[in-house]
Amino acid sequence: MTLPGNQDQRGVSHVIVQMMDDLEDFFMGMGYQVVSGPEVEEDHYNFEMMNIPANHPARDMQDTFYINNELLMRTHTSPVQARTLEKHDFSQGPLKMISPGRVYRRDTDDATHSHQFHQLEGLVVDKHITMADLKGTLLALSKHVFGQDREIRLRPSYFPFTEPSVEVDVTCFRCGGKGCAVCKYTGWIEVLGAGMVHPNVLRNAGVDTDVYGGFAFGLGPDRFAMLKYGIDDIRSFYQNDLRFLNQFKQEG
Ligand SMILES: [Zn+2]
Repeated sequence: MTLPGNQDQRGVSHVIVQMMDDLEDFFMGMGYQVVSGPEVEEDHYNFEMMNIPANHPARDMQDTFYINNELLMRTHTSPVQARTLEKHDFSQGPLKMISPGRVYRRDTDDATHSHQFHQLEGLVVDKHITMADLKGTLLALSKHVFGQDREIRLRPSYFPFTEPSVEVDVTCFRCGGKGCAVCKYTGWIEVLGAGMVHPNVLRNAGVDTDVYGGFAFGLGPDRFAMLKYGIDDIRSFYQNDLRFLNQFKQEG
């Protein structure tokens, strides 16, 4: 009678899944649809449709695992956007979507890289979309994830599928911008990449670029979780160490 009972070991959502769920909720609240697609992808959708033709130097940064010459493990979730854009009927309204999921690259595994990681990419295509819409969206996102006091700044960058392209920095949530080890004493932390959708990407999907334009962004839920919880090694996510995972238990 006095023996302790057997306790159920109840599982919890992985910290990356929690981060992705939270981001999905946030974007659904702003009217985005959540779309998933194949992880084994055609070269056509992963690269060609994204304005990265064969022999484009950007392919070097996204080397991956090939099934054969035409099939590969997707290097980003952008092909889901290409597939959705191609099918979208604009007479039914604008396209607002996010595509979360697993992606693969032939990266050397170290503290900040893994051959498998997660992405959450967003795409909005409509009439009269400007960079102000992009900036407002990213600011709202940064405040949601990293705290209401956050500010953002956009720095010029390059991606084949956006023009202009930007890197997005958020004010450091540890020191509030004064400078600390987390922000490498700059007061800013780079969190994601974004830009206005390149006309070639829209044309590839049969969209009339005289009428429609849009913005896109891509972020790493792994990186977001590392920043938010101060995790210094990405491999901790994949080692199934319960001492690590149980720190992220949430109610419900
Ligand atoms: Zn700082």
